[in-house]
Amino acid sequence: MELYIAGGVGEHGRNCFFLQNGGDAILVDCGLMAGSDDPLPRLTESQIRKLKAVFLTHSHADHTGALPWLLRQGYTGPIISTTPTLQQLPFIVQNAVALEQVAPRNEKCNGITWGLSGHCEGSVWLKLDWDDKAILFSGDYTEQSAVYPCDVLRNQVADLAV
Ligand SMILES: [Zn+2]
Repeated sequence: MELYIAGGVGEHGRNCFFLQNGGDAILVDCGLMAGSDDPLPRLTESQIRKLKAVFLTHSHADHTGALPWLLRQGYTGPIISTTPTLQQLPFIVQNAVALEQVAPRNEKCNGITWGLSGHCEGSVWLKLDWDDKAILFSGDYTEQSAVYPCDVLRNQVADLAV
């Protein structure tokens, strides 16, 4: 399994993580870097063709704003996130799939474990088990929110945390 950081680490915006295992790949987040001359995730056509699913940690534009661009590049697979996140997107996505239908909250199912991240309505952290490895995406995680619930991460075990 290989992780390719297509944006967002050391930058404010365009959070986008491409995870590949053989010929299959998934994306976690597809953000836009607002106000930049170079706002899109650094994904190639061949990477986009391999994508089997896109997961979203939450609705903010720095995690989702490049989805319309991804769809224009020909991506037609599922876009998976919580129902509140999908409802907050300011554009229409085809093949939206509710994360709650794929795996129950706080229970590993189909290689996916997720919990609420305390950042905004519907925001989640995600742990993906794939190819005998576990990789954890924290999203924008906070335990201090007085408004949004958070399922604490610290007891999760993973080979890599992003
Ligand atoms: Zn955010």
